[in-house]
Amino acid sequence: MSKIGVTVLASGSNGNCAVVHSGSQAIMVDCGISLRTLRRRLKEEAVDESWIKAILITHEHADHIQGARVAAQHFGVPIYATARCAEVLRARFEFGMMNLIAACNDFPLSGFNVRAFPVPHDAVDTVGYVFTRESTKIGLATDLGQTNPMANFQLRDCNTLVLESNYDVNMLASSKRPWPLKTRILGPSGHLSNADSAKFLPEVVTRNTRNVILAHISGDCNTYDIAERTAHESLRGMSRNDVFLTYGRRDAPIPTVWC
Ligand SMILES: [Zn+2]
Ligand SMILES: [Zn+2]
Repeated sequence: MSKIGVTVLASGSNGNCAVVHSGSQAIMVDCGISLRTLRRRLKEEAVDESWIKAILITHEHADHIQGARVAAQHFGVPIYATARCAEVLRARFEFGMMNLIAACNDFPLSGFNVRAFPVPHDAVDTVGYVFTRESTKIGLATDLGQTNPMANFQLRDCNTLVLESNYDVNMLASSKRPWPLKTRILGPSGHLSNADSAKFLPEVVTRNTRNVILAHISGDCNTYDIAERTAHESLRGMSRNDVFLTYGRRDAPIPTVWC
């Protein structure tokens, strides 16, 4: 079996895009960056464009979809979204035909078993994704206002987990952001803080977990360093210093993480 890789090409409020790949088959999750940036970053991380077979959408926020239509056209691949998300993408963003998926209904795609699952976030129908192939499991949840039993159930026991670690509570509180935006981010349908994420890790990290990739790290209410340190402390508390910990970046792709 070919090795399975996760390449985070962009992560954060100005654009999100990740690729799960094995051999010559790749599935993209979200495309919130321009085609030009996407192509450059794919090349930088040696992910061949011809591998891409589909683009899966998590929700309709611009940082996840703004490059998806053009990228799908360029690569000649279908976009997959839940029915309600697809409706918004068609009505507001002029997306064309899409393959409709339903949360918690697994489907086969490019050698993976794919499952979308609902997460609490203030978009129309936000989902996270789980990819399985033989004994390998990869989970992605990049925008979730809070963890819940569903997220716990779906994300537990991943070999590679991509998990939001959006903000540091103190930095958010003292930021210049308007109060309504602060309450939105802090609320149950906003984003996951470093502390939330660190608290969640012991619930989902198992002996099969090899990699944790922190995602959607805020540029003004967090730092890569604080997010990483907080997650490190959590893993250390579980005596799991063997887990490889890294984070997706806003300004650059990160090297492929192999499962
Ligand atoms: Zn987002
Ligand atoms: Zn969002």
